Amino acid sequence: MFDKVIRIDMTKIEATEEILAEQYKQLSGRTLSSRLVSDEIPPFADSLGPHNKIFITCGLLAGTTVSSANRLSIGSKSPLTGGIKESNAGGIAAYKMGRLGIRAIVLEGLREDDNWYIAVINKDGCRLKEASGLKGKGIYDKATLLYEEFGEKIGIILIGPAGERLLFTAGVANNDGDGAPGRFSGRGGLGAVMGSKHLLAIVLDDTGCIVSEAAEKDLFKEKVKLFHKGILETTQTNETLPKYGTASLVDVTNALGGLPTRNFQTGRFEQADKINAQSLYDTIKKRAGEGNTTHSCMPGCIIRCSNIFADENGKTIVSPLEYETISLAGSNLEIGDLDTIARINYDCNDYGVDTIDIGAAIGVAMEAGILNFGDKDAVLSLMQEVKEGTPLGRIIASGCAITGKVLGIRRAPVVKGQAMAAYEPRAVKGTAITYMTSPMGADHTAGNLVRTNIKPDMKEQLVVASRDAQIAMTIFDGLGFCMFIAASVKDRQILVDLVNARFGWDITKEDLVQIARENMILEREYNRKAGFTEAHDRLPEHFYEEENPVTGTVFDITEEDLEKLVF
Ligand code: SF4
Repeated sequence: MFDKVIRIDMTKIEATEEILAEQYKQLSGRTLSSRLVSDEIPPFADSLGPHNKIFITCGLLAGTTVSSANRLSIGSKSPLTGGIKESNAGGIAAYKMGRLGIRAIVLEGLREDDNWYIAVINKDGCRLKEASGLKGKGIYDKATLLYEEFGEKIGIILIGPAGERLLFTAGVANNDGDGAPGRFSGRGGLGAVMGSKHLLAIVLDDTGCIVSEAAEKDLFKEKVKLFHKGILETTQTNETLPKYGTASLVDVTNALGGLPTRNFQTGRFEQADKINAQSLYDTIKKRAGEGNTTHSCMPGCIIRCSNIFADENGKTIVSPLEYETISLAGSNLEIGDLDTIARINYDCNDYGVDTIDIGAAIGVAMEAGILNFGDKDAVLSLMQEVKEGTPLGRIIASGCAITGKVLGIRRAPVVKGQAMAAYEPRAVKGTAITYMTSPMGADHTAGNLVRTNIKPDMKEQLVVASRDAQIAMTIFDGLGFCMFIAASVKDRQILVDLVNARFGWDITKEDLVQIARENMILEREYNRKAGFTEAHDRLPEHFYEEENPVTGTVFDITEEDLEKLVF
């Protein structure tokens, strides 16, 4: 049950099916993809060459109605960072994989001819289909054409033109239950890896699949009920996130001086009240039409933190509009206008690029004087250049680090080549320790400490808290859970109980921690073999020397402080 692996060789144009090897049986999501990266991709492999692979996995509870347990996880060697990468997203693709009994889809080989393909997976297996006509189309048009051909209920995993052009901010999208292909495994340029293999999309059709949800059905039902009760009895998951979504962080970080503003020069944005959660909520409510303040990205999620943002005529601009994009494409560019941010978000989605790295790259371009901070029209026209693939557009779509190098701006907010998410590092120090030390590069989802009570001068405690947060996030990522369940999970026993009831296992919560620790060690070791050293576990120099004007602090975590970061 639920142990199929579909292996797609794009050199041979051949798909085969195998059973997940015994040593991987208790792994899923990030812990499975990272093990497979480590076992199958040489650390020195060219990320866009014939030896790199992509591992698409889902969590152990995929295909069930357990809330928030159907995240899609994509692992590979990253073109952006040059290291191991896992990037995950909501949407319905992982749910479909679970129903199809598939734990992993492996993409391997390379194509350098003019032919492009899609993979179609259903209960009878996987076939590859020539689909060169889809090449060059945006994500939304590609999705529409795939729905026309295969029906509206399919799951789709797809790339946009940025992936086809092998650009380093290219992500991999999948669709939500309403058909919007706006759920991105956006970080690390994994869309470019898929593009290097000339695979434009994977169609997941679960028609006729009969899923036995659990080895111990009654126990499973009981545990699901208990898990959902926890979500419904927690303010964060039952009130704040459903009403305001992730945008509630705008006021939190702005108050801390940690809302990236003006290319991370400062952490407070004068127009924050125009882009905060209340403004987003009020705008969506007032416009009504297709807009919705609460929405579920995947089947079964009862938190429903997502949204649909509509224009003044009630027509959808984009779904979802999230905190990271609101900051990187808003405050970071000094744009206090939700409509403009939503349009930038739509353009990024359609072209298939990461809104975080693109927002950070445009911030750097603003600092270089290519366009002015706050100039909405100039940003939208730069996004057209990105989509058209002009030389400047390609530089931006190559990410913040490369944009900084090309434009001569050393204050590029990146770690290991990847742009920081929406937490200014001198003000949100715990998250910045995660940025420095995560094998993934500057990634808040690797262990965010924005809400910690630990004081900024308690360095040792912050380092330990970052380590623990990185382990905790690996547990969630490794089980396919959305991190927003964290507030409602007071005891990880419930996660273990769900897994044990589904599979008839008897793993413990200590086993979960052990698997996560081993995974962290494995990811760091992979990066070491790929050429990473301690020098890569650092923020850009200016954050250590120039004060955040709001907090009056510099970043002061040293190599010695990091000695406590032992996994
Ligand atoms: S809480 Fe939000 S992001 Fe998480 S699964 Fe639910 S809708 Fe998706």
